[in-house]
Amino acid sequence: MRRSRQAKIVATLGPASSDAATIERLFDAGVDVFRLNFSHGSHDDHAARVRILRELERAKGRPVGILADLQGPKLRVGTFAGGPVQLQPGQAFRLVLGEVAGDATQVRLPHPEIFAALQPGAHLLLDDGRIELRVLGCDAGQADCEVVVGGMLSERKGVNLPGTLLPISALTAKDRADLDFALGLGVDWVALSFVQRPDDVAEARALIANRANIVVKLEKPQAIEQLEPIVELADAVMVARGDLGVELPAERVPAIQKRIVRLCRRLGRPVIVATQMLESMVHSPVPTRAEASDVATAVYDGADAVMLSAESASGRYPVQAVTMMDRIIRQVESDPQYRQTIDDSHAAARPGGDVTEAVCCAMRRASALLEPAAIACFTSSGHTSLRAARERPKSPVLSLTPSLQVARRLSLVWGVHSVHTVDVDDGEHLAEVATDTARREGFAQPGQAVLIIAGLPFGSPGTTNLMRIGVA
Ligand code: PGA
Ligand code: MN
Repeated sequence: MRRSRQAKIVATLGPASSDAATIERLFDAGVDVFRLNFSHGSHDDHAARVRILRELERAKGRPVGILADLQGPKLRVGTFAGGPVQLQPGQAFRLVLGEVAGDATQVRLPHPEIFAALQPGAHLLLDDGRIELRVLGCDAGQADCEVVVGGMLSERKGVNLPGTLLPISALTAKDRADLDFALGLGVDWVALSFVQRPDDVAEARALIANRANIVVKLEKPQAIEQLEPIVELADAVMVARGDLGVELPAERVPAIQKRIVRLCRRLGRPVIVATQMLESMVHSPVPTRAEASDVATAVYDGADAVMLSAESASGRYPVQAVTMMDRIIRQVESDPQYRQTIDDSHAAARPGGDVTEAVCCAMRRASALLEPAAIACFTSSGHTSLRAARERPKSPVLSLTPSLQVARRLSLVWGVHSVHTVDVDDGEHLAEVATDTARREGFAQPGQAVLIIAGLPFGSPGTTNLMRIGVA
């Protein structure tokens, strides 16, 4: 089974999409990486999803990526005894640190740091900035607020304090427990929320070691100020536009999104564009024209993946949302202008690079001339395939690795068709394995060229030193 597109789809699982039949339909519709959102659901819920996904992977014979997204120091209100409440502008609304049953006059806010940092006059934004409160008076256990902008508020909605600096680390006690649990489940990627500084990534890396790869979510103004060092420490990046667009004015998000995608492409870090991409499909079977255009923009910019959140997790049309994303991506990628746009925005490697860079540059040139049926990349750590994808070649990247974990991780990466293979331990069978796999996976017809890159001797990561042309 092969997909006929280069940009990937990440979809979040939730109440609308957690039974085996729906998950299979999501996969068939085009999901490459499934996201478990640890802001919602119990450990049992996530474990059940992972069991279904690993079963699906066996049944389909394709590596499936699983991304565990840690909540991070995301501030959220508590629950409401009688369901969502309507807040009217001008009314009083109280935030309480301790246990209270929420209603239209008050709700729990279980974060002592907020109450410690709040001052009268501070503004709080709720539910992705839809609702605004102003603090009238506060102490260590409660804050009396006035509703500035009203709306419906439901349980566990996010709270942002754009103007208030909170002394909090990127991994909360809950995150550490969730991280342990997620690593125990064998997830492939861990996403860190609300990263503010390079040290936040280094801290998580020390805990995770090589058990999973790290996605850094860019959603704080502080992280944008130190973009390059943070992206360098990440294995992949997410443009988390939901919180980013609350913490910063919404009109600044498009340019920042493009800047992040450009930087990630230059540094060879996979980048996911996330949040509200097809938001109206939470309630409607078709997206708005503006949403279709938003997905297309990310694809024209060369992002590795686009993501669904509520659309697939709790919306009415999870499968349709994936189908729509798949169609938009394929439409963009079949536009003759697309290839030109990707080439024009490609950052050529600079002099002073290493052998891997040189081989990948040669691959780029050779594949542009030959248009091989596939570019077969033998990789043990995933580095060769990642570096090949950075070149954004026109031909599909057929990644071969003996590591199932690496095969799964690479499912996030632009243009990579990831295959878990037997270990090829000598150079002799290299071309044969590459061309056989290209035929078997539906990439090459007999007689077609397959470009091969690899590092010899095998199993020594970081040295891609060989390019060959095989014939299928
Ligand atoms: P979230 O992250 O869905 O976990 O909040 C994405 C975003 O903020 O855009
Ligand atoms: Mn977020």
